Amino acid sequence: MKIIFLGAPGAGKGTQAEIVSERLSIPTVSTGNIIRAALKDGTPMGLKARAYIEAGELVPDDVVIGIIQERLAEDDCKNGFILDGFPRTIPQAEALDAMGIVIDKVIDIEVPDETIARRLSGRRVCKNCGNSYHIDYKKPSVEGVCDACGGELILRSDDAPETVLERLAVYHEKTEPLKAYYEKQGKLFIVEGQEQVEDTTALTLKLLEE
Ligand code: ADP
Ligand code: ZN
Repeated sequence: MKIIFLGAPGAGKGTQAEIVSERLSIPTVSTGNIIRAALKDGTPMGLKARAYIEAGELVPDDVVIGIIQERLAEDDCKNGFILDGFPRTIPQAEALDAMGIVIDKVIDIEVPDETIARRLSGRRVCKNCGNSYHIDYKKPSVEGVCDACGGELILRSDDAPETVLERLAVYHEKTEPLKAYYEKQGKLFIVEGQEQVEDTTALTLKLLEE
């Protein structure tokens, strides 16, 4: 199965993607995680992306399309994959279609902007492995420490309130039109994001089983 998770930053698509990925034993491909890893490693792509990420802007289409093309060509994507954070613009979606990749379902997780702003301020990420947590909704076993690797949990710099507003504006302008794009292809399914992660997951799994 080839699935796309759509939604505003902080709507919970990354969390849903991880859960479904485990259930279906297919990898999650997160452009955000790939870019952050490149940034941490100081690769040329990472250096190019830094200013965009820190301003809450999108990294240019040609850069992310290149990343995705390479990643989806890897062996573990042969039996399907979940895309988290890609596509984020119409040209990115068109590029995916042009690669001949046939997506089965697009799950759009809907959460009001007010809720997003509150959620992102409570989000914490592992400095070391990039796993993400939330001080209310997805607590690590030990406060401030990553369950997966023991790394320190920090606030992502682009989760600062001013940057969040810019990311939301970018989402509405550039990413939201993808709903109509996939609606036209008959692939769009909407999930109302719930207060509790498990409740959202139940809705997501139900849609994927249909
Ligand atoms: P979130 O969904 O929480 O906003 P991500 O981790 O998906 O965060 O992305 C973080 C940042 O990485 C984005 O704000 C953007 O700058 C960049 N990015 C990730 N995916 C894409 C993409 N498909 N196109 C352009 N930029 C991207
Ligand atoms: Zn970690």
